[in-house]
Amino acid sequence: MNSSWTRRDFLIKSGAALAAVQAIDHFDPCCAMAADASTADKELFELKPVADGIYAAIAAPRYKVNSNAAVILTNDGVVVVDSHSKPSAAFALYREIRSITKQPIKRIINTHFHWDHWQGNQVYAEAFPGLEIITSERTRENLTRPDAGSGGVAYIEKQLQLVPKEIEKLGNDLASATDPAQRARLEANLRQTEAYLEELRKMNPALPTRTFDQTVTLNVGDREIQILLLGRGHTDGDVFIHLPKEKVVATGDALIDWMPFMNDGYPEDWVRTLDALEKFDFTQIIPGHGGVMPKQQLTFFRGYLTDLVAAVKKADADGASLDEMKRTLPDLLAGKYEQGMSKHPLGQYRDRIGLNIEIAYRKVIAKT
Ligand SMILES: [Zn+2]
Ligand SMILES: [Zn+2]
Repeated sequence: MNSSWTRRDFLIKSGAALAAVQAIDHFDPCCAMAADASTADKELFELKPVADGIYAAIAAPRYKVNSNAAVILTNDGVVVVDSHSKPSAAFALYREIRSITKQPIKRIINTHFHWDHWQGNQVYAEAFPGLEIITSERTRENLTRPDAGSGGVAYIEKQLQLVPKEIEKLGNDLASATDPAQRARLEANLRQTEAYLEELRKMNPALPTRTFDQTVTLNVGDREIQILLLGRGHTDGDVFIHLPKEKVVATGDALIDWMPFMNDGYPEDWVRTLDALEKFDFTQIIPGHGGVMPKQQLTFFRGYLTDLVAAVKKADADGASLDEMKRTLPDLLAGKYEQGMSKHPLGQYRDRIGLNIEIAYRKVIAKT
């Protein structure tokens, strides 16, 4: 199968896409953060060894966010889990991988369909024509649906309409800012966003070429790699990559070191999916965002989802409106979760708790 579709091919194949894109009037990027968050201005990944031949590529905090990746060396080529938000970021990691091995990159695995985890696929597909891009059947469907959420081919079109507005807003904010530190941040964010728009305009997305609808074990050279499909969670289609011998799991955004992004998620299923993940034997987690974590972090993250849903249900049963919940629940949950969910500059507790309450309410109570 030709893994590289142009956006035009896609739009021809899916006539509904353009209409759907035009109907979308708000921009809720997967991993948006406060515009004045202090972030790095360079494309940086830190390759951290987590086991023999297994690396976590930890993304530097950027206004235009990148996901982490997992890099798995085998004696039959390199496997990379997730490809970041854009080709330049994928190139940056590709160069770092080249500094540790001359083996070709033969396989990419996409953990889910969000923009910041797959929009760099094309770099690897162009460099290695036989490349396999692996994911779940549902994630591939989401990548080509016009209305899946914060990712996929249609979302590139949506961003092409909305990022120019974001640039305009950053420019206006910069023009009215007087504090030197804030001006420096806004200038850096504006530069990143302009460069991102240029990349979006040239994007030639590479879609998955091999999909699964249930858990499988792949023997890649000397390495055993399990692709776990455990149910819905962060999205409908999440996959986990489990290395049983090395006791490592890469989780995408279904388990991260930030507050979760829930807009395309299934809060109650998500808890059950993490229950299923917990049964596997691993000691280290390479999350979609944040740093490498021990297995115990699963308990903390799942606890947040469980307590958030329970708090929203109880408040609803007590007659509270959504607005009242958004006023009272952040402080109610803060004691247990604010510190642990605010370890990094991005994805902090107070940045996301309001939206999380709203999404939990919408999905669990209103069921919209
Ligand atoms: Zn992400
Ligand atoms: Zn995501």
